[in-house]
Amino acid sequence: MGIFDKLFGGGDPGTVASYRHVKIHPSVDNGIKPATQGFSGGTLKCKCPSNKVIVTVEAQTAHNHVCGCTKCWKPDGAIFSQVAVVSRDKLKVTENGDKLSIVDPSAAIQRHACTGCGVHMYGRIENTGHPFHGLDFVHTELSSQGGWSPAEFAAFVSSIIESGVDPARMDEIRGRLRELGLEPYDCLSPPLMDAIATHLAKQSGALR
Ligand SMILES: [Zn+2]
Ligand SMILES: [Zn+2]
Repeated sequence: MGIFDKLFGGGDPGTVASYRHVKIHPSVDNGIKPATQGFSGGTLKCKCPSNKVIVTVEAQTAHNHVCGCTKCWKPDGAIFSQVAVVSRDKLKVTENGDKLSIVDPSAAIQRHACTGCGVHMYGRIENTGHPFHGLDFVHTELSSQGGWSPAEFAAFVSSIIESGVDPARMDEIRGRLRELGLEPYDCLSPPLMDAIATHLAKQSGALR
């Protein structure tokens, strides 16, 4: 193989930078499965061996992403969570709801966690003035059904350092996120940040 091919040719794994050894979250580490067309929801189950909390979601989710903040629930060993939203009227706790407790009642997102296994079953915003009021936050990896909307980007990437990730690893972590097609952002994605700013501008009167 000549120098041109080495520098600019495709397909030679020896010359392609790969960050495959970097683990992000079990739902994306082995590639991201596309949504199933017409998928209309399913059930989320907590990780208790018995008397599982069951949440029924009667719609496809939206804006699924991996999140590096310190508040979202993450599976063991993962440095990111994976979280999507669904309209709150499409979400119902259908079994063992008495096991749920709000992690931090003063937080904007009230995360309803199972007191048995610690898994967050859904997050809800009760403040009607909040830009995301009306949307519940869910972790679709808690569902055995396939077909949910896939992760589309990575949010609050720099925040993983707050959980103890070595800052020297950020290049390889952002590299792996880009390799997976999950553009890394240190807040939310531009469309979501624009939606928040639009909401606030309408509240303040800066926009009509
Ligand atoms: Zn549980
Ligand atoms: Zn988060």
